[in-house]
Amino acid sequence: MTQGTSLAGKTALITGSTSGIGLAYAKTLAGEGANVVINGFGDKDAIEKERAGLEAISGAKALYSGHDLTKVDQIEAMMAEAAAAFGGVDILINNAGVQHVAAVEEFPIDKWDLIIALNLNSAFHTSRLAIPYMKSKKWGRIIQTASAHSLTASPFKSAYVTAKHGLAGFTKTLALELATFGVTANCISPGYVWTPLVEAQIPDTMKARGMTREQVMNDVLLAGQPTKQFVTSEQVAAIALFLCGDAASNITGANISVDGGWTAQ
Ligand code: NAD
Repeated sequence: MTQGTSLAGKTALITGSTSGIGLAYAKTLAGEGANVVINGFGDKDAIEKERAGLEAISGAKALYSGHDLTKVDQIEAMMAEAAAAFGGVDILINNAGVQHVAAVEEFPIDKWDLIIALNLNSAFHTSRLAIPYMKSKKWGRIIQTASAHSLTASPFKSAYVTAKHGLAGFTKTLALELATFGVTANCISPGYVWTPLVEAQIPDTMKARGMTREQVMNDVLLAGQPTKQFVTSEQVAAIALFLCGDAASNITGANISVDGGWTAQ
Protein backbone atom coordinates (compact mmCIF):
# COMPACT_ATOMS: atom_id res chain seq x y z
CA MET A 1 0.00 0.00 0.00
CA THR A 2 2.74 2.43 0.89
CA GLN A 3 4.18 1.93 -2.57
CA GLY A 4 2.26 4.04 -5.01
CA THR A 5 0.32 6.07 -2.39
CA SER A 6 -0.12 9.07 -4.65
CA LEU A 7 -0.26 12.31 -2.74
CA ALA A 8 -0.34 14.51 -5.83
CA GLY A 9 -2.46 17.59 -5.18
CA LYS A 10 -2.19 17.19 -1.42
CA THR A 11 -0.21 19.47 0.89
CA ALA A 12 1.74 18.22 3.88
CA LEU A 13 2.97 20.56 6.59
CA ILE A 14 5.66 19.08 8.77
CA THR A 15 6.83 20.99 11.82
CA GLY A 16 10.50 20.75 12.77
CA SER A 17 11.53 19.42 9.39
CA THR A 18 14.88 21.06 8.75
CA SER A 19 16.62 17.99 10.14
CA GLY A 20 16.21 14.48 11.47
CA ILE A 21 12.87 12.69 11.36
CA GLY A 22 10.99 15.74 10.05
CA LEU A 23 13.17 16.04 6.98
CA ALA A 24 12.68 12.32 6.30
CA TYR A 25 8.89 12.81 6.40
CA ALA A 26 9.21 15.70 3.95
CA LYS A 27 11.34 13.68 1.53
CA THR A 28 9.05 10.67 1.71
CA LEU A 29 5.82 12.62 1.18
CA ALA A 30 7.36 14.81 -1.55
CA GLY A 31 8.41 11.55 -3.15
CA GLU A 32 4.73 10.69 -3.55
CA GLY A 33 3.96 14.05 -5.14
CA ALA A 34 2.76 16.07 -2.14
CA ASN A 35 3.48 19.76 -1.80
CA VAL A 36 5.38 20.19 1.44
CA VAL A 37 5.72 23.00 3.93
CA ILE A 38 8.87 22.61 5.96
CA ASN A 39 9.63 24.40 9.21
CA GLY A 40 12.42 24.62 11.73
CA PHE A 41 15.70 26.35 12.42
CA GLY A 42 19.14 26.06 10.89
CA ASP A 43 21.58 27.51 8.43
CA LYS A 44 19.73 29.55 5.79
CA ASP A 45 21.66 28.21 2.81
CA ALA A 46 21.43 24.61 3.98
CA ILE A 47 17.66 24.95 4.40
CA GLU A 48 17.27 26.49 0.95
CA LYS A 49 19.25 23.58 -0.47
CA GLU A 50 16.93 21.09 1.23
CA ARG A 51 13.84 23.02 0.06
CA ALA A 52 15.02 23.06 -3.55
CA GLY A 53 15.94 19.38 -3.26
CA LEU A 54 12.39 18.57 -2.13
CA GLU A 55 10.96 20.29 -5.20
CA ALA A 56 13.35 18.36 -7.41
CA ILE A 57 12.07 15.01 -6.08
CA SER A 58 8.66 15.13 -7.79
CA GLY A 59 8.13 18.62 -9.17
CA ALA A 60 5.62 19.44 -6.44
CA LYS A 61 6.14 22.66 -4.47
CA ALA A 62 8.12 23.05 -1.26
CA LEU A 63 7.72 26.09 0.97
CA TYR A 64 9.93 26.94 3.94
CA SER A 65 8.23 28.65 6.88
CA GLY A 66 10.79 29.25 9.59
CA HIS A 67 8.58 30.37 12.46
CA ASP A 68 9.27 29.64 16.12
CA LEU A 69 6.49 27.27 17.16
CA THR A 70 6.78 28.08 20.85
CA LYS A 71 4.89 31.29 19.99
CA VAL A 72 1.18 31.16 19.15
CA ASP A 73 1.27 34.16 16.80
CA GLN A 74 4.11 32.56 14.85
CA ILE A 75 2.20 29.28 14.54
CA GLU A 76 -0.73 31.27 13.20
CA ALA A 77 1.58 33.01 10.70
CA MET A 78 2.96 29.64 9.49
CA MET A 79 -0.52 28.18 9.00
CA ALA A 80 -1.61 31.36 7.16
CA GLU A 81 1.42 31.08 4.84
CA ALA A 82 0.53 27.47 4.06
CA ALA A 83 -3.09 28.40 3.35
CA ALA A 84 -2.05 31.31 1.13
CA ALA A 85 0.28 29.08 -0.89
CA PHE A 86 -1.81 25.90 -1.13
CA GLY A 87 -5.34 26.63 0.11
CA GLY A 88 -4.84 24.60 3.27
CA VAL A 89 -3.07 21.65 4.85
CA ASP A 90 -4.27 18.11 4.07
CA ILE A 91 -1.59 16.29 6.04
CA LEU A 92 -0.35 17.82 9.28
CA ILE A 93 2.66 16.24 10.94
CA ASN A 94 3.46 17.64 14.36
CA ASN A 95 7.07 16.73 14.75
CA ALA A 96 9.00 19.69 16.20
CA GLY A 97 10.43 18.78 19.54
CA VAL A 98 13.30 19.40 21.91
CA GLN A 99 14.64 17.57 24.92
CA HIS A 100 16.31 18.53 28.19
CA VAL A 101 17.80 16.07 30.66
CA ALA A 102 17.87 16.99 34.38
CA ALA A 103 16.48 15.86 37.71
CA VAL A 104 13.06 17.31 38.57
CA GLU A 105 14.35 19.47 41.43
CA GLU A 106 17.04 20.93 39.16
CA PHE A 107 14.96 21.17 36.00
CA PRO A 108 15.25 24.74 34.64
CA ILE A 109 11.81 26.36 34.56
CA ASP A 110 12.44 27.91 31.15
CA LYS A 111 13.30 24.47 29.73
CA TRP A 112 10.11 22.98 31.17
CA ASP A 113 8.05 25.79 29.61
CA LEU A 114 9.86 25.46 26.26
CA ILE A 115 9.31 21.69 26.02
CA ILE A 116 5.62 21.90 26.92
CA ALA A 117 5.13 24.80 24.47
CA LEU A 118 6.89 23.14 21.56
CA ASN A 119 6.34 19.40 22.05
CA LEU A 120 2.71 19.67 23.20
CA ASN A 121 1.03 23.05 22.85
CA SER A 122 2.16 23.65 19.26
CA ALA A 123 0.31 20.48 18.18
CA PHE A 124 -2.92 21.87 19.64
CA HIS A 125 -2.47 25.17 17.80
CA THR A 126 -1.55 23.68 14.41
CA SER A 127 -4.41 21.17 14.71
CA ARG A 128 -7.07 23.72 15.61
CA LEU A 129 -5.98 25.82 12.63
CA ALA A 130 -5.78 22.90 10.17
CA ILE A 131 -9.03 21.15 11.07
CA PRO A 132 -11.60 23.47 9.37
CA TYR A 133 -9.95 22.94 5.95
CA MET A 134 -9.65 19.17 6.49
CA LYS A 135 -13.33 18.98 7.47
CA SER A 136 -14.32 20.99 4.39
CA LYS A 137 -12.40 18.49 2.21
CA LYS A 138 -13.77 15.50 4.14
CA TRP A 139 -10.21 14.18 4.20
CA GLY A 140 -7.23 14.80 6.40
CA ARG A 141 -4.38 13.21 8.28
CA ILE A 142 -2.95 14.42 11.56
CA ILE A 143 0.17 12.55 12.56
CA GLN A 144 2.17 13.23 15.70
CA THR A 145 5.73 12.21 16.24
CA ALA A 146 5.19 11.12 19.82
CA SER A 147 7.76 8.79 21.37
CA ALA A 148 8.20 5.63 23.41
CA HIS A 149 8.08 8.30 26.12
CA SER A 150 4.38 8.80 25.34
CA LEU A 151 3.86 5.29 26.74
CA THR A 152 6.53 4.90 29.38
CA ALA A 153 8.89 7.12 31.40
CA SER A 154 12.61 7.49 31.94
CA PRO A 155 14.26 9.39 34.78
CA PHE A 156 15.52 12.95 34.16
CA LYS A 157 13.14 13.60 31.24
CA SER A 158 10.12 14.87 33.16
CA ALA A 159 9.04 17.64 30.77
CA TYR A 160 9.49 15.50 27.67
CA VAL A 161 7.61 12.52 29.15
CA THR A 162 4.83 14.83 30.30
CA ALA A 163 4.53 16.50 26.89
CA LYS A 164 4.56 13.22 24.96
CA HIS A 165 1.98 11.55 27.22
CA GLY A 166 -0.15 14.67 26.74
CA LEU A 167 0.27 14.49 22.98
CA ALA A 168 -0.95 10.87 22.99
CA GLY A 169 -4.07 11.85 24.94
CA PHE A 170 -4.71 14.86 22.72
CA THR A 171 -4.48 12.61 19.65
CA LYS A 172 -7.12 10.20 20.98
CA THR A 173 -9.46 13.15 21.49
CA LEU A 174 -8.75 14.44 17.98
CA ALA A 175 -9.53 10.99 16.58
CA LEU A 176 -12.92 10.90 18.29
CA GLU A 177 -13.88 14.43 17.29
CA LEU A 178 -12.85 13.90 13.65
CA ALA A 179 -13.99 10.29 13.18
CA THR A 180 -16.94 11.10 10.91
CA PHE A 181 -15.11 13.68 8.79
CA GLY A 182 -12.62 11.45 6.95
CA VAL A 183 -9.85 12.82 9.12
CA THR A 184 -7.63 10.47 11.11
CA ALA A 185 -5.27 11.34 13.96
CA ASN A 186 -2.52 9.03 15.10
CA CYS A 187 0.77 8.99 16.97
CA ILE A 188 3.93 7.37 15.74
CA SER A 189 6.10 6.52 18.72
CA PRO A 190 9.74 5.87 17.94
CA GLY A 191 12.32 4.51 20.30
CA TYR A 192 15.79 5.95 19.82
CA VAL A 193 16.32 7.28 16.32
CA TRP A 194 19.82 8.46 15.50
CA THR A 195 19.27 12.21 14.87
CA PRO A 196 20.81 15.49 16.10
CA LEU A 197 18.28 15.49 18.99
CA VAL A 198 19.67 12.23 20.37
CA GLU A 199 23.27 13.23 19.81
CA ALA A 200 22.69 16.52 21.65
CA GLN A 201 21.44 14.87 24.83
CA ILE A 202 24.51 12.69 25.28
CA PRO A 203 26.62 15.30 27.15
CA ASP A 204 23.82 16.10 29.65
CA THR A 205 23.12 12.42 30.21
CA MET A 206 26.86 11.84 30.80
CA LYS A 207 26.69 14.57 33.45
CA ALA A 208 23.39 13.50 35.03
CA ARG A 209 24.44 9.85 35.30
CA GLY A 210 28.22 10.24 35.68
CA MET A 211 28.87 8.10 32.59
CA THR A 212 31.20 8.06 29.59
CA ARG A 213 29.84 8.65 26.08
CA GLU A 214 30.12 4.93 25.29
CA GLN A 215 28.27 3.99 28.48
CA VAL A 216 25.45 6.42 27.61
CA MET A 217 25.16 4.91 24.10
CA ASN A 218 25.12 1.28 25.21
CA ASP A 219 23.80 1.33 28.79
CA VAL A 220 21.20 4.12 28.46
CA LEU A 221 20.12 4.74 24.87
CA LEU A 222 20.15 1.19 23.53
CA ALA A 223 19.76 -0.52 26.91
CA GLY A 224 15.98 -0.59 26.64
CA GLN A 225 15.81 -1.25 22.91
CA PRO A 226 15.86 -5.07 22.55
CA THR A 227 16.94 -4.99 18.89
CA LYS A 228 20.06 -3.03 19.99
CA GLN A 229 19.67 -0.90 16.89
CA PHE A 230 18.74 2.73 16.44
CA VAL A 231 15.49 3.20 14.50
CA THR A 232 16.02 5.10 11.22
CA SER A 233 14.21 8.30 10.26
CA GLU A 234 13.18 6.61 7.00
CA GLN A 235 11.44 3.81 8.91
CA VAL A 236 9.42 6.39 10.83
CA ALA A 237 8.55 8.27 7.63
CA ALA A 238 7.39 5.05 5.96
CA ILE A 239 4.76 4.63 8.69
CA ALA A 240 3.51 8.18 8.09
CA LEU A 241 3.17 7.44 4.40
CA PHE A 242 1.19 4.30 5.18
CA LEU A 243 -1.10 6.35 7.45
CA CYS A 244 -1.77 8.71 4.51
CA GLY A 245 -3.05 5.88 2.32
CA ASP A 246 -6.57 4.52 1.92
CA ALA A 247 -5.59 1.28 3.65
CA ALA A 248 -5.19 3.29 6.85
CA SER A 249 -8.52 5.15 6.73
CA ASN A 250 -9.77 3.16 9.72
CA ILE A 251 -6.63 3.59 11.78
CA THR A 252 -7.36 6.51 14.07
CA GLY A 253 -6.54 7.24 17.68
CA ALA A 254 -3.72 4.72 17.49
CA ASN A 255 -0.24 5.01 18.93
CA ILE A 256 2.08 3.06 16.67
CA SER A 257 5.35 2.00 18.23
CA VAL A 258 8.51 1.76 16.18
CA ASP A 259 10.88 1.17 19.04
CA GLY A 260 12.73 -2.10 18.53
CA GLY A 261 10.56 -3.73 21.21
CA TRP A 262 11.23 -1.15 23.95
CA THR A 263 7.63 -0.79 25.13
CA ALA A 264 6.90 -4.52 24.79
CA GLN A 265 8.92 -5.10 27.96
P1 NAD B 1 16.00 17.13 15.49
O1 NAD B 1 16.66 17.95 16.54
O2 NAD B 1 16.81 16.53 14.40
O3 NAD B 1 14.85 17.97 14.81
C1 NAD B 1 14.03 18.85 15.54
C2 NAD B 1 13.43 19.84 14.59
O4 NAD B 1 12.64 20.78 15.33
C3 NAD B 1 14.49 20.68 13.83
O5 NAD B 1 14.04 20.91 12.52
C4 NAD B 1 14.51 21.97 14.63
O6 NAD B 1 14.98 23.10 13.89
C5 NAD B 1 13.04 22.10 14.97
N1 NAD B 1 12.77 23.02 16.06
C6 NAD B 1 13.40 23.13 17.26
N2 NAD B 1 12.87 24.13 17.96
C7 NAD B 1 11.88 24.66 17.20
C8 NAD B 1 10.96 25.73 17.39
N3 NAD B 1 10.95 26.46 18.51
N4 NAD B 1 10.09 26.02 16.40
C9 NAD B 1 10.10 25.30 15.25
N5 NAD B 1 10.93 24.26 15.02
C10 NAD B 1 11.81 23.97 16.00
O7 NAD B 1 15.19 16.02 16.27
P2 NAD B 1 14.50 14.64 15.84
O8 NAD B 1 15.19 13.58 16.61
O9 NAD B 1 14.36 14.52 14.39
O10 NAD B 1 13.09 14.83 16.56
C11 NAD B 1 11.90 15.07 15.86
C12 NAD B 1 10.75 14.60 16.74
O11 NAD B 1 10.88 13.20 16.98
C13 NAD B 1 10.67 15.28 18.11
O12 NAD B 1 9.33 15.57 18.44
C14 NAD B 1 11.20 14.20 19.03
O13 NAD B 1 10.69 14.34 20.34
C15 NAD B 1 10.71 12.96 18.37
N6 NAD B 1 11.41 11.74 18.72
C16 NAD B 1 12.72 11.61 18.46
C17 NAD B 1 13.36 10.43 18.82
C18 NAD B 1 14.82 10.22 18.56
O14 NAD B 1 15.36 9.25 19.09
N7 NAD B 1 15.47 11.06 17.77
C19 NAD B 1 12.65 9.41 19.45
C20 NAD B 1 11.30 9.57 19.69
C21 NAD B 1 10.69 10.75 19.32
